[in-house]
Amino acid sequence: MNSREIRSKFLTFFKEKEHKIVPSAPLVMKDDPTLLFVNAGMNPFKEFFLGIARAEHPRVADTQKCLRVSGKHNDLEEVGRDTYHHTLFEMLGNWSFGDYFKAETIAWAWEFLTEVCGISKDQLYVTVFEGSEDEDKLEMDQEAYDHWKKILPESRILMGSKKDNFWEMGDQGPCGPCSEIHVDIRPEAERKANPGAELVNRDHPQVVEIWNLVFMQYNRKADGSLEPLPEKHIDTGMGFERLCMVLQGVSSSYDSDLFVPIIREIETISGVSYGKAEDTDIAIRVIADHIRAVSFAIADGQLPGNTGAGYVIRRILRRAIRYGFSFLGMHSPFMFKLVDVLTRIMGEAFPELKAQRQLIVNVIREEENSFLKTLEQGLSLLDQTLKGTQGKTLDGEKAFELYDTFGFPIDLTSLILRERGYSLDQAGFEKSMQAQKDRSKAASEINRDDWVQVHQGEGSQFLGYDTLEAEARLI
Ligand code: ATP
Ligand code: MG
Ligand code: MG
Ligand code: MG
Repeated sequence: MNSREIRSKFLTFFKEKEHKIVPSAPLVMKDDPTLLFVNAGMNPFKEFFLGIARAEHPRVADTQKCLRVSGKHNDLEEVGRDTYHHTLFEMLGNWSFGDYFKAETIAWAWEFLTEVCGISKDQLYVTVFEGSEDEDKLEMDQEAYDHWKKILPESRILMGSKKDNFWEMGDQGPCGPCSEIHVDIRPEAERKANPGAELVNRDHPQVVEIWNLVFMQYNRKADGSLEPLPEKHIDTGMGFERLCMVLQGVSSSYDSDLFVPIIREIETISGVSYGKAEDTDIAIRVIADHIRAVSFAIADGQLPGNTGAGYVIRRILRRAIRYGFSFLGMHSPFMFKLVDVLTRIMGEAFPELKAQRQLIVNVIREEENSFLKTLEQGLSLLDQTLKGTQGKTLDGEKAFELYDTFGFPIDLTSLILRERGYSLDQAGFEKSMQAQKDRSKAASEINRDDWVQVHQGEGSQFLGYDTLEAEARLI
């Protein structure tokens, strides 16, 4: 089954169970200040879960674009190193707003995976919340356990801790116990020799979590306490790339048809083959991943910038550019050339990619041009500095210079340092950053009464008093 068919099987399955199929919300939700990016399928429905708004349809299903690069859900460090975490991914979900609850959710998830997708029952494990003894004092989820017991042997139902089996979106908001489904895709002989149950939730690349069934029962308040939600809801999220990996019989989501054409294109452009060495493979995976995140963000109106969500996108793009530069020898813009192949793969399901194609290409090419101008100099400054450094820590002031003069986001500097076996003087970096903010603030105060004139072509434009302040780059 190709990815298009898999996506459509999911949506059709739930449509037949009377769900309304809705399009993905944009990655950036302008009206939710608690969230930089949508990081789970449930985000756009938060108000229904909280009881602030009423859903028109009590049952909904969709595929939601998610980005996990900041805040509570940040997978950036894993991406490219492992084979199943992405920055941007699709989360397939079915929802019940005060309608069905645990019985249907569990039965349907099982039906979809085993009957529609044909995954062997012997490869599946599920987890159930075991309860908690901390200040929340939550009980074990007996109800979910009993539903699972009707379907599969007890040896395949595992107890899970709060960390894995109590889902919370952030520090506040709707939350509840969850049951997760894991798939063991190791070869049969290996599966027989060593039971997969022991590998669940152990970051094993081939015993992976695929679907999270969340039973929304509580709201976490600002003071940290839990209150029951007025109505109970269902929120499920299944990693689409992981499902494609399983159904296409490959052991990495980068080997599914969602990524292979992008990887082929990177190989063509760089002349470096995938599957030859660990460091170039990581670079290729990072680039194949990051082009998706950056393109979708731009398509949804979030351009790279100096603050907030824009700076997160810039960091992701610069990270990919640096991987290409250092490991694949890409010293001129190349990321923008991947937009077409991405649009071919995903443009049908996400027409915004097609509609914004030219903008995406232009913005990425511009960003590449500007960062590549300073990247080489910055890297050589870093190497020289490290040569003269005693010990294994880079001075915070130097890291600040890389940030300020060469445009190196601090997480990029940390990453490069780690590769070289060094660490970063984070406190020193922050001190330099603060000093610069103080300086530019003082400068803008001095200039308060001056008109700033900037000549642009024929006319001249008033940019206001606070230009310096606005230009001071913030993290
Ligand atoms: P993991 O433990 O693998 O990091 P998670 O428990 O953080 O996943 P959930 O918040 O439960 O993930 O999200 C629901 C589903 O979304 C997961 O079961 C998984 O299939 C998928 N998923 C989560 N994070 C990613 C990611 N970074 N890339 C691809 N798929 C993901
Ligand atoms: Mg995670
Ligand atoms: Mg998990
Ligand atoms: Mg999970």
